[in-house]
Formats: sequence, structure tokens, C-alpha cells
Amino acid sequence: MYSLQMHKLGSCRSVIRELFEYGKKRKAEIGDDAVFDFSIGNPSVPSPSSVRDTLIKILTEEEPTAVHGYTSAQGDPAVRKAIADNLNQRFGTDFEADNLYMTCGAAASLTISIRALITEDADEFITFAPFFTEYRVFVESQGGKLVVVPPKEPDFHIDLKALEKLITPRTVAVIINSPNNPSGVVYPEEVIRELAALLQAKSEEYGRKIRIISDEPYREICYDGKTAPFVTKFYPETLICYSYSKSLSLPGERIGYILVSNRMQDWKDVYAAICGAGRALGFICAPSLFQKLIARQAGATADLSVYARNRDLLYGGLTSLGFTCVYPDGAFYLFMKTCEADTSAFCAKARKHELLLVPADDFGCPGYVRIAYCVSSDMISRSMKAFAELAAEYGLSPR
Ligand code: PLP
Repeated sequence: MYSLQMHKLGSCRSVIRELFEYGKKRKAEIGDDAVFDFSIGNPSVPSPSSVRDTLIKILTEEEPTAVHGYTSAQGDPAVRKAIADNLNQRFGTDFEADNLYMTCGAAASLTISIRALITEDADEFITFAPFFTEYRVFVESQGGKLVVVPPKEPDFHIDLKALEKLITPRTVAVIINSPNNPSGVVYPEEVIRELAALLQAKSEEYGRKIRIISDEPYREICYDGKTAPFVTKFYPETLICYSYSKSLSLPGERIGYILVSNRMQDWKDVYAAICGAGRALGFICAPSLFQKLIARQAGATADLSVYARNRDLLYGGLTSLGFTCVYPDGAFYLFMKTCEADTSAFCAKARKHELLLVPADDFGCPGYVRIAYCVSSDMISRSMKAFAELAAEYGLSPR
């Protein structure tokens, strides 16, 4: 016997992974340069050289048993303090080591947070379409229900009226993601303030604290001088799920954290529940070498300016061909309207031009595709001919 639910999850890849695997196969057939693979959010810029230098220093100067040994289950206190100090310096907060739980990336941060908050009589997590597809897996695999607020076109900000109607006495938390995968939208402060006011009112109405789970792997990737508001400042009942996968280009190293805001009245109990969930799920003692690295590199980032250049190239190129796109303020995804109602048919036509675009149906937003531009600028330039052919096929008029 085995779990049918887990079997189903393990047997079907996500649409992104499916396309990524197709891309590898196709490149082997016709050559790397002939395929325009916009499928996956794997950072295209290397980690800064300080990451390599620091790793070498740690490996050569520190005791191997300490470098590779277990840390405390929630992460080394010195590492957590270094992160808290860095956040306090950047955001004017007053966190301590014990507000932080080290994890294997944002996926683990989210899974632990969901597990820690869910109860028998409150199991609904609300998110906004378009949303990162794995939220459904993380919530449903723990017995919860993912409630999706329909997309708010054309700006894809938070639809407060629609959200209000979906909050019930069973609502545990609202999951937000800004800068957003896949829309590239960054919620401005005003939107976060309005969300906070609504959740505060609803929490009072139902006599239950509705939390925000803020999923922030793209926090540092914002353009044109914009920044993502630091959510704990606007809503005390906040957990932040962070990862160094994108900001430091370390997705394979699996390192991140959960921040439990010390502005929550019961934060010590919530933190204990986070520790319990980490223990129950086996997510204890995040990779110790990379914990040590983060302690010395808290706040460092890769050269993220490449993504702004790619954004301009792609957005400018595609809109001038006649495609309709959401202007991304952050992350490294462009959200583009399909030229026919059937998203899969549009993606299949794009594939004929060797353009690998992710249909947004699983993001809760049919009629759009996600184009990951964490690729070389050269590939974006070369792909324009294929996009022009696709545009011509649909009779789009260049602008
Ligand atoms: N949340 C969002 C919105 C993401 O885009 C990703 C990864 O692409 C994750 C979470 C998972 O991040 P990690 O690789 O750190 O687990």
C-alpha cells in the first residue's frame, strides 16, 4: 500500500518541469541555440564572487566537524542573529535570533508555516490568482483547502472586495507573493495597508487571528527604484517565508528562513509551532555550510541589474510586436496575454517556433503565459524573430 495522494503528486510533473524537460530533449535534438527556453525560474546570473570566497574561507579555516555538523534544529543562533541584525538595519525592525527559523528554501518555509498554522476548525488558506502553482500542493498535502481569489485584470493587484467575500471562520491565513511569480507585480504600500485593514476587521469579526504568509523569494528583485513593502510593519500577524534561491542565485543549495514577527502577541507560541512543524516534517537543521555563508553574506545579492535589462528587452520587444503584457515591476517573469482563448493551443503554436512558454492555467489564470526572463540577454534578442513569426500567425499589428 502507499498513499494515492502522494503517488499522484509524484507521478505527474508540474507543467513548468514538463516543459523544462521537453526543452532539454529538444536542445539535444536541434542544438542549444535553436531553442528559446523561457520555462524555468533558474537564476541566470552567477552568485557574487564573495559567495565563493566566503565558502572557501569557511572550508579552509573552520573545523570540519563544525562546518558539516548538526546545528540547532531551528538553525545556528549566531546565523539567525546575523540575519535579524541585517533585517533590523534595512527595515528599522527589532527582530532577534528567536524570530527566525532556518529552512531549506522558500518551499520548506511555506510548508512548515502552513503546517504550523492549520487546525481542525480552520483549514482554509486564501491566495490570489495568478499564484505559484506549488501553493496548492503545500496546502492540500497537509489537509488544507486552497481558496483562490480570481485574477484582477489588468493590474493583477489584490481584489479586496473579492477577498472579503471569500474569508470565512475557517480562514487560517492569506498567502501573498510580491514581487509576484508569475505576474511580476509588486504590491505598493497602499495595497498592503488596505489588505491589513481588511484582515484586522475580519479577525475581530470572527474572533480569530487571520495571518499573512508573505512569500518573498524575489524581495530584492524590484525595478525602477521600487521596493516591496516590508509586511510586518503594516500587519503584526505576519510570517515571512524567505529564500536565498533568487537574490543570491543559490537555488540548488536550499537555504532560506521563516520570520515570525515579534509584533504578534502570541509570537512565542507561533514560533514554537513552527519549530514543531519543522520537526514533524523533518525540516530541521538547514544545510550548515550555507547557514554559515549566510551569516557572513546576509544582505548580499547577485548582480540583479541583468534582470532589469532583460525586462526592458523583452517587454519592449513583445509589446512592439503587438503582444499585450503586464509591465513587471519585479521578479523575473513576464505575463503575456495569449492570442486565443485556448492557452495550451497558443503554447503549442509557440513551441512550433521553438518558444517554450508556460501556460498560466495552473497559476489560476488561463489566457496568459509566463515567460521567465532569467536567461541570457542574447537569447532574448535572438528569440524576437520567432516571436515576430508567432505574432504574424495571429495577424497582430506591430506598434
Ligand atoms: N515561492 C515562489 C513564488 C517561487 O517562485 C519559488 C520558486 O521558484 C518558491 C516559492 C520556492 O523557492 P525555493 O527554491 O527557495 O524553495
